[in-house]
Amino acid sequence: MKVTTAGLVLKEMDIGESDKLITALTEDRGVISVISPGAKRLRTKNSGALQMFYYCELTLFKGRKGYIVDEVEIKERFENLKYDIEKFSLAEYFCEIAFVLSPRESESRDFLRLILNCLYFLLNGKMNLHLIKSILELRICSFAGYMPNLIGCTGCKEYKCDKLYFDIKNSSLICNDCLNGKNNSYDLILINGSVLDAMRHIIYSKFDKLFLFKISDSSIDFLSSICEKYVLEHVDYKFKSLNFFKTINNYALEVEKMI
Ligand SMILES: [Zn+2]
Repeated sequence: MKVTTAGLVLKEMDIGESDKLITALTEDRGVISVISPGAKRLRTKNSGALQMFYYCELTLFKGRKGYIVDEVEIKERFENLKYDIEKFSLAEYFCEIAFVLSPRESESRDFLRLILNCLYFLLNGKMNLHLIKSILELRICSFAGYMPNLIGCTGCKEYKCDKLYFDIKNSSLICNDCLNGKNNSYDLILINGSVLDAMRHIIYSKFDKLFLFKISDSSIDFLSSICEKYVLEHVDYKFKSLNFFKTINNYALEVEKMI
């Protein structure tokens, strides 16, 4: 059976002398593994062109053992990411998180659109890297069934008050009154208004407005630490690429201080 779908290459691995095993996030089949035969071995149009961060129209043979690439039409290459190690390492994390959280063998347009936009902003935009990372982390968690309830305090329903805590474990908010003064939990984070507004925007805004909001540079670090903590609390997976990004990012900050 022949199928056509659009997909982003999340991973590639050489198998044998000229073939590749590609993992792609596709719009209507979720994450799939695809054999991409070497261009020399089979008359497969453009299959050798499949690389990580390529967004392509894929024509595939679906057999009993899985998918084999028949034809590839490249729509977008985010290959220039490789010229910036910090952005490259973050893009790898985006692909890893998309690999872990996106559905298998089912419709995944929202996931694909989110990661494509994040890669676009990473490559072309002037947006803070940690802000793009936060948008991806919180929004993809929401798509994947881990959406926190940020409407108001779980106790009294208060939307806005001076002391509102984000309960990471329970994915909800609680105010100081309802907490009754007891906050000795690692999972409760006192959250300020601008960070809460940003988190609400990331979760509840329409997609075409998702990247359109302002937050001060001083609040981005706080937002970023909360979103990352949230992912690590709810997704049982060790993200190797996240550690790599953090190492590179810390190094870049050190160099910045020295200049
Ligand atoms: Zn309350």
